[in-house]
Amino acid sequence: METQARLTVDLARLPKSGERLTGELDSAVLDLGATHGLVEPAGGLAYDVRVERLDSELLVRGSAGMEIACVCSRCAEPFRMRVEEDAFVVSYPIEETTEHVDLTPDLREAIILALPGYPVCREACGGLCPQCGTNLNRASCRCAPDGADGRWAALDGLRIRRKRTGGKRAGTNAGTRNAVD
Ligand SMILES: [Zn+2]
Ligand SMILES: [Zn+2]
Repeated sequence: METQARLTVDLARLPKSGERLTGELDSAVLDLGATHGLVEPAGGLAYDVRVERLDSELLVRGSAGMEIACVCSRCAEPFRMRVEEDAFVVSYPIEETTEHVDLTPDLREAIILALPGYPVCREACGGLCPQCGTNLNRASCRCAPDGADGRWAALDGLRIRRKRTGGKRAGTNAGTRNAVD
């Protein structure tokens, strides 16, 4: 699909009943500045909006979406995801002298607001072991007890309890799970 640098509505050419506009803007419109590769556009900014003139305003409703390339904030692996704004709604005041309305800045902002603050490759991403750096999605490690997965910590506690009857309670390390984030 051919992409456009901007999306502007020419009021003189807009049908009275309104119009549906669909297409794709250049990924360059996102202009994120220096993100050090953590979040980059991986495609154009797709829009699908209905544009309607109501007296002295232009009402725009629809959706915007973009494929982005990110680095997972837990495991540091690159991955791609799609960000979407399904409830894009903007109204622009129309003066007598208004000829064009540029929707580009608001479409850009909608995508930026939809970007994840801490991209995660998947909900269940195990991240990196804070001690040895092992990617816990691919392998497990023997680091213990701090930063260990809560399940292993509980097992460690069980072993201790079996050795010394009436000794340590199990699961004393259960609270360390959050340290992974
Ligand atoms: Zn991850
Ligand atoms: Zn480890």
